[in-house]
Amino acid sequence: MHFKRLYDIIFKNTLYIICLNLFDEMEELKMAKYVCTVCNWVYDEEIGYPEGGIAPGTKWEDVPEDFGCPLCGVGKDLFVKQED
Ligand SMILES: [Zn+2]
Repeated sequence: MHFKRLYDIIFKNTLYIICLNLFDEMEELKMAKYVCTVCNWVYDEEIGYPEGGIAPGTKWEDVPEDFGCPLCGVGKDLFVKQED
């Protein structure tokens, strides 16, 4: 029947969209690490940098722009995202 086929298509597309949205949300929640390109110190979003007043779970984009590497002092612009 045509209706059955139409239903299948809609059902599959809906599932597909739900999966895509879930995947996006997981990517959002995933904590990333950023590495200082000068001294290799790592900022871990999960850990934050409590010694510097940055709470655990702080996203890199929410870290203040005047943040400096605790080891060598360079700014955020010299950090790169660590790909795993
Ligand atoms: Zn550094």
